[in-house]
Amino acid sequence: MIGTFEYVRADNVAAAVALVSADPDAQYLAGGTTQVDLLKDGVLNPERLVDITRLPLRGITRRGDALVVGSLTTMEELAAEPVLGARATFVRAALLAGASTQLRNMATIGGNLMQRTRCRYFRDPTVPECNKRASGSGCAAISGPARMHAILGASKHCIALHASDLCVALVALDTLVHVQGTDGRRTIPLTQLYRVPGDRPDVENVLAHGELITAIEIPLLPAGARSEYLKVRDRASYEFALTSAAVALTIEDGVIAEARVALGGIGTFPWRAPAAEEVLIGAGASTSLFRAAADAEIVNPFTLPGTAFKVDLAKRTLVRALETAAA
Ligand code: FAD
Ligand code: SF4
Repeated sequence: MIGTFEYVRADNVAAAVALVSADPDAQYLAGGTTQVDLLKDGVLNPERLVDITRLPLRGITRRGDALVVGSLTTMEELAAEPVLGARATFVRAALLAGASTQLRNMATIGGNLMQRTRCRYFRDPTVPECNKRASGSGCAAISGPARMHAILGASKHCIALHASDLCVALVALDTLVHVQGTDGRRTIPLTQLYRVPGDRPDVENVLAHGELITAIEIPLLPAGARSEYLKVRDRASYEFALTSAAVALTIEDGVIAEARVALGGIGTFPWRAPAAEEVLIGAGASTSLFRAAADAEIVNPFTLPGTAFKVDLAKRTLVRALETAAA
């Protein structure tokens, strides 16, 4: 049952930021595709919800070799951006691999970055052990069935996955996140937005309470780069990733001149793969090289009986994505 809360519709960015920053129990509401489910399930009980959907933060502009995307732009609107087809195909593929058309028409880009985990125990308030919901209470996923969970960045305190597809391609591109708080504006690399959960999985990112994502800035790939987003899942649509890989390669005379790699479905946050990139850059494209890159990245995974299969599946997913991009 949804508890009572104050609903406020903000009409400018500064007012929205002030309204949430001033109240530790206030939260933003964008498209509501994550937020409303959590309210209905009794996971969230905010005292105030600040609706940001009328703020002037919707739209896409070109800034040199980058796209600046307002945080209220929907997933469908970004997927329809023509520049992505030529200069960042895998961003479009990641967007269209997510959720359903109806959801993508509501879901915003800012909300996608900030979406909460799909961990079944987090989303069920009748389960008392969840360090993310109640710090120090334990983690039910460690001893219960766990399949849609993380193996990298995870620990006995929390194995919750960041389930975004879009963010996997965005971290590969070194996307920037523009935010506004009561102290002004700042820009954070997306690779530094999320915290390694450690023993405080309830603190998910480096934003101060009330800081609002106003836009993201997506660097485009060089002309001629080939990119691929491969998502492996239990059914072909409307399903979260078991594993995924976002890769972009620039190949000159058979040699990989530039490589960008990130992994999804296995990390507590969208997982940039620098060790894999290091193996790839400067070498000739081949399946054995791609296997070596996968082996270099997925080291010391935190696995449980339910998640151990992801080690091999994630490696195979990366190899296949690299083969496709290189073909
Ligand atoms: P809301 O639900 O309104 O908010 C989500 C969170 O973000 C809240 O904590 C809110 O306070 C915060 N927030 C929103 N905007 C901002 C902002 N500008 N600044 C700071 N904080 C903000 N995603 C995938 O990537 N792949 C999938 O396959 C996929 N499948 C899905 C299937 C279902 C059934 C559902 C319900 C969701 C699925 N999603 C998937 C997740 C979906 O993409 C997110 O729910 C959506 O992007 C969230 O955006 P929203 O605008 O609805 O955010
Ligand atoms: Fe909670 Fe994280 Fe454990 Fe899920 S994995 S029950 S979110 S602490």
